[in-house]
Amino acid sequence: RGKKAFIAGVADDQGFGWAIAKALAEAGAEISLGVWVPALNIFETSFRRGKFDDSRKLASGGLMDFAHIYPMDAVFDTPDDVPEEVKANKRYAGADGFTISECAAKVARDSGKIDILVHSLANGPEVTKPLLETSRKGYLAAMSASSYSYVSMLQRFGPLMNPGGASVSLTYIASEKVIPGYGGGMSSAKAALESDTRVLAYEAGRKHQIRVNTISAGPLGSRAAKAIGFIDDMIRYSYANAPVQKELAAQEVGNVAAFLCSPLASAVTGVTMYVDNGLNTMGLAG
Ligand code: NAD
Repeated sequence: RGKKAFIAGVADDQGFGWAIAKALAEAGAEISLGVWVPALNIFETSFRRGKFDDSRKLASGGLMDFAHIYPMDAVFDTPDDVPEEVKANKRYAGADGFTISECAAKVARDSGKIDILVHSLANGPEVTKPLLETSRKGYLAAMSASSYSYVSMLQRFGPLMNPGGASVSLTYIASEKVIPGYGGGMSSAKAALESDTRVLAYEAGRKHQIRVNTISAGPLGSRAAKAIGFIDDMIRYSYANAPVQKELAAQEVGNVAAFLCSPLASAVTGVTMYVDNGLNTMGLAG
């Protein structure tokens, strides 16, 4: 039986979410996506116009396809959470059922059970501000989009998952070591995500017999990372100082995500796995 995967956090072919989709598709999984509402239109248009065709090529010669593409906004759990100004926003007006619970209900309707759940999204409106200058609103927004969204997804998608299934998210070493420039409460949000990974591995392991892991990825020039501003410096720093001196490819993270979600990792849960060319091991610039 082919496995079914739901991936939240794909809006182009440049980020980790796309690379995870690719690795899972290569392994034969059926992929559905949850795409952030404001990014959905351009994603679907670009997809239709063939802009991603090169990146869609599979080893078999075919093109990666998606079974379903759903609008999603991971800061809302149920319709009652959506404020009037968001409903009225023209980028949201055409979309419906984009809260996490509604999205899970659509996946249940269209796919029945799933085997793999991926959270590859983050957002921190004040990410460019130092933590010391971050507002309460900005801090809580970072936690809401980047950490609680995962708790909520496991709440709603966990019951749809087959026993033996697995879930993975993406984190960053700024949770445990100071990375100047990764502000706005994003470092706090990643610390929460990693701690929650352990607790959720226990709770969802017992409740649904699924595994929960997170990948601490090295720097990648994705759209989200470019918005932070210092990604090119981080890539250069990593190249200069990591044990393995090469630029990190998104696909290297995609491949580890596929491994973690496969039976090869059937005894691995609650783990923060570094996929960063080993940079995390260094105590002093190499
Ligand atoms: P990306 O831009 O490809 O992915 C981020 C996605 O989050 C986008 O598709 C965006 O549309 C989506 N998103 C934002 N707010 C959302 C919301 N409220 N609801 C639903 N979707 C929302 O960038 P990426 O770098 O591949 O990011 C994926 C994950 O990897 C994030 O968790 C990020 O923190 C993590 N990460 C990135 C790096 C890096 O250097 N790029 C390093 C370590 C970890």
